[in-house]
Amino acid sequence: MKKLIGIDLGGTTVKFAILTEDGEIQQKWSMETDIQNGGRNIVPKIIESIKQRLNLYGLTANHFLGIGMGSPGAVDREKGTVIGAYNLGWTTLQPVKELIEAGTGIPFFIDNDANVAALGERWKGAGEGGANVVFVTLGTGVGGGVIAEGNLISGSSGAAGEIGHIIVDPNGYPCTCGNQGCLETVASATGIVRLARDLSVQFAGESKLKWLIDDGQEVTAKTVFDQAKLGDRLALIVVDKFYFYLGLACGNIANVLNPEAIVIGGGVSAAGEMLLKGVEGYFLKFAFPQVRTSTKIKLAQLGNDAGVIGAASLVKVRKA
Ligand code: ZN
Repeated sequence: MKKLIGIDLGGTTVKFAILTEDGEIQQKWSMETDIQNGGRNIVPKIIESIKQRLNLYGLTANHFLGIGMGSPGAVDREKGTVIGAYNLGWTTLQPVKELIEAGTGIPFFIDNDANVAALGERWKGAGEGGANVVFVTLGTGVGGGVIAEGNLISGSSGAAGEIGHIIVDPNGYPCTCGNQGCLETVASATGIVRLARDLSVQFAGESKLKWLIDDGQEVTAKTVFDQAKLGDRLALIVVDKFYFYLGLACGNIANVLNPEAIVIGGGVSAAGEMLLKGVEGYFLKFAFPQVRTSTKIKLAQLGNDAGVIGAASLVKVRKA
């Protein structure tokens, strides 16, 4: 049986894995992302790292069905190029597929990082192989991936699944996309902190969170959830607002797609069961009856491995 290579390219680290065709990870490693020089070193270093590892494990290109990669930025799946991945320094078009295939001699497939994480969770995680799974990733931003009737939906220009730009408050905060009140402005790690700062201004009662903010201490999304778990009154108001916005977005997604599961992942989802229950409360309010009883809200299960597993699955999906 042949093997797969999965690569999860991020702004700080590149994660690699060698997997069986069934998606079991056999080896994994990572390296720092070298964003110097306009990101020009990234692809050569990826090629070098793969060659070095194959050498170490006594493997050759013939042992592999393909390499899959998840990348930030705007990905052209057919041409295998990436543009506008600003956290990598990639402002101009990068011919990633061409370079990696020439450098390794192994067929290469690429997609957007959030889509790839969705494929990973669907294949080996909370999506349980379902034909209809929506993945929402809550990190520095809010990303999404939509799998409908077994297909990853890319849309007419590759922009489908941008769940972070669902508008949950038309009069809300300005978003990087130019609009106002997108989910990303209130449900990303920075969005939650923004909610906390704004709500703390009007809050008059006793609150450790308010004290931390007023004292100028570092407050993160984790601080907010930790304080909410301890029963801090302001923190509970902040997380309830967050649950409302995310529950509203999930309800609307489910009313259109009726997936088996909406899987919530990314750094913020580390808040765990408390977050799940909170979002579910509002989701049940906004989903209509058949959807309410058939679509489940779940927490992602693969953690850091979702990217490499999903990336590897691209090889199987696209080669088929
Ligand atoms: Zn937006």
